[in-house]
Amino acid sequence: QRKDALQIVNDFAQEHYKHNLWNTDAGKSIALGYLKERGFIEKTIKAFDLGYAHRDRKELTNQALQKSYKKEYLQELGLTTRNDQDFFSNRIIFPIHSLSGKPIAFAGRILHTQSKAPKYLNSPESEIYHKRKVLFGLDLARKSIRDENKCYLVEGYTDVMMMHQNGVENVVATSGTALTSDQIRLIKRYTDTIHLIFDSDAAGTKATLKAIDLILAEAMNVKILPLPEGQDPDGFIMAKGHSGFQKYAEDQLLDFLSFKIQFHDKDQGEDPVSQSELIRNILSSIALIDDGITRHLYIRETAQVMGLPEQTLVDELTIHLEKRS
Ligand code: ATP
Ligand code: MN
Ligand code: MN
Ligand code: MN
Repeated sequence: QRKDALQIVNDFAQEHYKHNLWNTDAGKSIALGYLKERGFIEKTIKAFDLGYAHRDRKELTNQALQKSYKKEYLQELGLTTRNDQDFFSNRIIFPIHSLSGKPIAFAGRILHTQSKAPKYLNSPESEIYHKRKVLFGLDLARKSIRDENKCYLVEGYTDVMMMHQNGVENVVATSGTALTSDQIRLIKRYTDTIHLIFDSDAAGTKATLKAIDLILAEAMNVKILPLPEGQDPDGFIMAKGHSGFQKYAEDQLLDFLSFKIQFHDKDQGEDPVSQSELIRNILSSIALIDDGITRHLYIRETAQVMGLPEQTLVDELTIHLEKRS
């Protein structure tokens, strides 16, 4: 079967990249050195099957062709370019695994950020990789997600890895794309609750707001753990350690109402016009909740926090719901 043949080629590629990282001079000094400098220990690097693509742009392609793997497959998988060069060159390789732990795609991180090249390159979609339906780390996280009955959702591969290394294993990331409903439904197989820990920058806040609505629309609980300005989960948990992280998570976790209020007030102030904008924004999220009882509980909370009669909000919500149907 074609899918099996493609999988065999990706299995080969993962082994090739791993071999480079652990058993070649450049891999050991440049790539492993880089990862260790960032604080990753060997156990973590192995658990996530990280590898290294050498600088030479012929190596993987030539070895694969020698093994009689079809060029057509190498190209569909994005390992080899149209002019027969290796796609990944001089990058750390992060395999993206299926639920059963097979490498269905790869991400490659540049080693030196001063370069103008993109920080991450990703495999294209293929017959075995549909990026909207995959979460990085889910193969390793799913047991813990079920045990903890919640899933942390972060932005990056290194965020997943560093949290894992610090004993927080119920964590997954989208792989370089915006969150999709398919990905949320994947998580829903294991838990009803998602805690968002996105980068504390403009892009992360924007992504958080979008993720909130998508998760509510899938009838799941969403909470947000905002990090100190400019930080991401990788750096944060590395600095704080497991117990520091857990303590922070207990103290700072917000429901989506409080998150919206906190971030609105920070840059907009509390005059009536901007407050009514905030309330409409909150109502637009509440309108996505299918269950009437849950909707009502959020309305009540909004009324209390904003100091408005519940009925005013109910009337306004009705308008939202009518717009939707
Ligand atoms: P690192 O810690 O290695 O710098 P990061 O995860 O903190 O990585 P961010 O810049 O915060 O990197 O980006 C978050 C995620 O977005 C990355 O893990 C990657 O999946 C994706 N991403 C970032 N830059 C690019 C890019 N240039 N092209 C494609 N995807 C990218
Ligand atoms: Mn970021
Ligand atoms: Mn980041
Ligand atoms: Mn980072």
